[in-house]
Amino acid sequence: MLSDPKETIRVIQENNFTFRKNYGQNFLIDSHVIDKIIAAAEIDKDTEVLEIGPGIGTLTQYLAEVAKTVKAVEIDDKLIPILEKTLSEYDNVEIIHGDILKQDIAAMFDGRPFKIVANLPYYITTPIIMNLLESHVPAESITVMIQKEVAERMQAAPGSKDYGALSLAVQYYSEPYLAANVPPNCFMPRPNVGSAVIRLKRRVEPPVDVKDEKLMFSMIRAAFNQRRKTLANAIKNFEGLSFSREEIEEALGRLGIDGRIRGEALELRQFAELANEFTD
Ligand code: SAM
Repeated sequence: MLSDPKETIRVIQENNFTFRKNYGQNFLIDSHVIDKIIAAAEIDKDTEVLEIGPGIGTLTQYLAEVAKTVKAVEIDDKLIPILEKTLSEYDNVEIIHGDILKQDIAAMFDGRPFKIVANLPYYITTPIIMNLLESHVPAESITVMIQKEVAERMQAAPGSKDYGALSLAVQYYSEPYLAANVPPNCFMPRPNVGSAVIRLKRRVEPPVDVKDEKLMFSMIRAAFNQRRKTLANAIKNFEGLSFSREEIEEALGRLGIDGRIRGEALELRQFAELANEFTD
């Protein structure tokens, strides 16, 4: 298996492959970590899987063994012929050459349930996750290896330094669960940061009652764009929002919240209530 570092080196040398830093290429070389990803994702023979960035196919081989089917989307054209070889013995794998941000993922599965599993390229972790969540991609769960700091931000609660727009978006759309911390020596080449496996289970119903999702997320973005200002001041200046400081302070007052509060102290429910104050 490719999770053996010697195998990975052999495949790379045999194909004259050179790592492309700008694509965030850090290949897994530890079978225990792969087992943890697969266990966290709860995959069985009925599961259809979308893998983002298969690399040389290391995680893909394991997924192919346990899942019903795997669709693997890889951006680097140099990796496509390699994947065709390393995955040749699996007839349940489809390799797709393309950019995950440009795929119509819902159409790939035609309404059938599926799960997303990936060792993500770290340079676009947040855009990929936000795109999947905001576009309401109907995946049951997203189980991904990401930078440890980003995993901490996803799980953070109000008052912590890691709490921000990403925490609120992730927790609105999903239930995050940290499955494992992973050190740099489990990858080739080694990344400069610690990593973590996180599973985001899609919520069927949002955890709060919000009438205008878009307005709430604009307010959240405003709050954390200028996190040192009071919430009312941050929202008043923010593009696309036309509220005065007084209007925000009055709305906070009606909710029993101090008008000089900063956004970083508000929980998701309170952002929802604030947005609802401005929605008919
Ligand atoms: N899954 C492999 C593994 O675990 O060994 C490789 C993981 S590596 C961290 C990330 C992979 O994502 C690379 O193969 C990279 O070329 C690919 N990638 C980067 N940007 C991408 C994008 N926008 N769409 C699809 N794949 C991408």
